[in-house]
Amino acid sequence: MNTREEWTRFATSIEAPSAMWLNGQWFNGDGSERHHVLSPHDDTVVTSVPLATHADVDRAVEGARAAFLDGRWARISARERGAVLQRWAELVFEHRDELAALITLEMGKPIQVARDIELRAVENTFRWYGELADKLYDESPRGLIDAVALVSREPVGVVAAITPWNFPLTLSSWKIAPALLAGNSMVIKPATQSPLSLLRLAQLGSAAGLPDGVLQVVTGSGGQAGAALARHNGVDCLTFTGSPDVGKQLLIYAGESNAKPVHLELGGKSPQLVFADAPDLAVAARTVAWAITFNAGQMCTAGARLLVEETIADQFVAEVVSEIKRCTVGDPFDPDTHIGPVASRAHRADVLEHARTAHTEGATLAHGSLQERAGSGAYLDPIVFTDVQAEHRLFIEEVFGPILAVTRFTDDADAVRLANATPFGLGAGVWTSNLTRAHRLTREIDAGLVWVNCYEEGDLSVPFGGRKLSGHSVDKSIHALDKFTSTKSTWIHL
Ligand code: NAP
Repeated sequence: MNTREEWTRFATSIEAPSAMWLNGQWFNGDGSERHHVLSPHDDTVVTSVPLATHADVDRAVEGARAAFLDGRWARISARERGAVLQRWAELVFEHRDELAALITLEMGKPIQVARDIELRAVENTFRWYGELADKLYDESPRGLIDAVALVSREPVGVVAAITPWNFPLTLSSWKIAPALLAGNSMVIKPATQSPLSLLRLAQLGSAAGLPDGVLQVVTGSGGQAGAALARHNGVDCLTFTGSPDVGKQLLIYAGESNAKPVHLELGGKSPQLVFADAPDLAVAARTVAWAITFNAGQMCTAGARLLVEETIADQFVAEVVSEIKRCTVGDPFDPDTHIGPVASRAHRADVLEHARTAHTEGATLAHGSLQERAGSGAYLDPIVFTDVQAEHRLFIEEVFGPILAVTRFTDDADAVRLANATPFGLGAGVWTSNLTRAHRLTREIDAGLVWVNCYEEGDLSVPFGGRKLSGHSVDKSIHALDKFTSTKSTWIHL
């Protein structure tokens, strides 16, 4: 499919999932309440899904527990589990158009990004963990004389995952693949906004050979289904990607129930530090523009703060704005669209509220508008503010939309001070040709991810996670398995 018309026709022909995925089949839930999934492109109803009740969540957790205990997944060999994940990767590849179209329908991501970036990441994730299956070892320390000690890793049991809408499949697959590879069963609750692609992904998992009950998808609101999962005594571990406010609430729920471990991947307000000696200022400007417009700025790692050296600030900002102007905002089913709508009209109103506050606080509007675009859909042009001060809310708070806050710095110390002056610590970009400065700043910036002369580079072999209010554990890589396993120390006296 090459044109907007072809993609739109294709999307209309898809039968979108409209039930939960429990115990290997569609399940409509015990309750009668349903939620309309709306297209942010034109506000039309794509379909509706059940709002899970407490009883539905109990059923999902009990099914996952039964699947775990009888060993249908946990006690087959790791190699067999890996083979299922690899078959799943193949099915994701075969069904990438359909899965991408579901993502575009439910949250407005441009179709090319959904298909060529998000779906490729999902396929790679299942393949990478699938290939890892028979390459993992337990430990046994060498120094013991009259004993052998085995330090083995075992699955925790039932893992619950709660995920957001901005990358509905990638972020979920970063949890599903390692959790299942480790032998756990899983219950996952996607965002209310975007359950469709994940439901279809789960169905493909069954087609790949995942036994019934090993992956349960409950649809419903965070306040009800999400909270019920987080408070559930039958859940052994909770993994979450989403906002800091909800992350903090989940820690409370865990404390109120069975003190389950809670792994948090939260928000960000990532800075890009651009020095006059950057190796290529044109590349830096293009990347800064990309990092705040990609996925309509709805990225935990969005490069939301540009910190630029005073001597080049005016010229560099002009270059960034001219790059941003080249991005087309439009129908996400048009393959030429760079920026689709934001996730909903309510989210757009929230983003614009941040912009109006920045204006009131004294920042200068360098590009964009503070007014809503006319017409249907949640469309929003990117916005750039200069003269943003460290005490402004736009400097400190996550917006999760295409708003760039620009602040000038004088020297390295000033740049680091500004970079670290938010509650977040997810990502940072450093643009410089000075190797010493690059190394020194990389050490001094309090963030889980630092990119030098690039931004948003990633690979399955490299952990992804933040610090401070951005969370405390990692997705991706071999280290993600730590979340979903617990160690057992066994002593054998000789
Ligand atoms: P959110 O509002 O925190 O929602 C995330 C998930 O939590 C959704 O499934 C939501 O359900 C659920 N939820 C809401 N309230 C809950 C409660 N009381 N108990 C249990 N679950 C609850 O975040 P979002 O708006 O979807 O996503 C944006 C946020 O995610 C941003 O802060 C962004 O930075 C962060 N994020 C972080 C990463 C990372 O890797 N660090 C990646 C992507 C996004 P409903 O949909 O029903 O509200």
